[in-house]
Amino acid sequence: MRLVLLGCHLSIAGGLEKSIEQAEKLEINALQIFSRNARTWKITHLKPEQIELFRQKWEASRVEYINIHTSYLINLGSPKEEVFQKSIEALKDEILRSGQLGIPHVNTHVGEHLGSGVDTGLARIVTALNEVLAGPEAEQYPDVLVLLENDAGSGSALGVRFEEMGAIIDNVKHPERLCVCFDTCHGHAAGYDFTSEDGLAAMLAEFDEKIGLKRLKLIHVNDSKNPLGSRKDRHEHIGKGQIGEKAFELIVNHPKLKDLPFVLETPKSADEDEKLNSEMDIVNLGTMRRLRHEK
Ligand code: FE
Ligand code: FE
Ligand code: ZN
Repeated sequence: MRLVLLGCHLSIAGGLEKSIEQAEKLEINALQIFSRNARTWKITHLKPEQIELFRQKWEASRVEYINIHTSYLINLGSPKEEVFQKSIEALKDEILRSGQLGIPHVNTHVGEHLGSGVDTGLARIVTALNEVLAGPEAEQYPDVLVLLENDAGSGSALGVRFEEMGAIIDNVKHPERLCVCFDTCHGHAAGYDFTSEDGLAAMLAEFDEKIGLKRLKLIHVNDSKNPLGSRKDRHEHIGKGQIGEKAFELIVNHPKLKDLPFVLETPKSADEDEKLNSEMDIVNLGTMRRLRHEK
């Protein structure tokens, strides 16, 4: 029997390997990181000793799964040429880092059309992904997958409905390099109701039809501050929001989902107090473990 793959987003402040040290303290076997400062476009290359240190720490730890979350600046659907080109370069760089670090998944938000319209935005994203996936980084590291994360749907966000993600994957030249991360807060805000057994079954059937369940590789487990269909992206602690504990119990035990990695992105303290952050993570991890029937 396989243990549940469960963890949370962890900071790399002080070095990439600090995330692994923190994971060990939390006794988790899965985690998500930013591979660099997520608030700047600046690209700096990893040094061989940084890579080596990270890989050694990882190897010696209980961590089985890691994914990289890309910078929030990336917008593959941007109608602005400069942002569009920078986004392509940034995503290529994340694939390179991923490959160097031995991390299998780069998770990125689909993008925003910023008024250019849904169809134009989606076409733009397909163009961007074609360029990224034909690049030398993707070629050098053929095992790295790009995960598209579903969006809550505020503003002009794309990738809100499963059909939008399906349309992107169907139209790229290398669909074998694209998979999906489902964020529960975003899905609920987008109007998918998986709070009952029937609701979850219906949503998964729709996912399977529009995207294909085999493409689902990661679940971001977050409760939501706002109600179903609010299109607002505000995460809440598990069981403390509008989604509620029952939905997470259904998800973490569902036969088609239970072997996927579950990564928490629940709120951290506003001042990024390390001790407070890990106390909050411990509570949410504990809730998820309690909801899991076989540990
Ligand atoms: Fe995200
Ligand atoms: Fe997320
Ligand atoms: Zn979110």
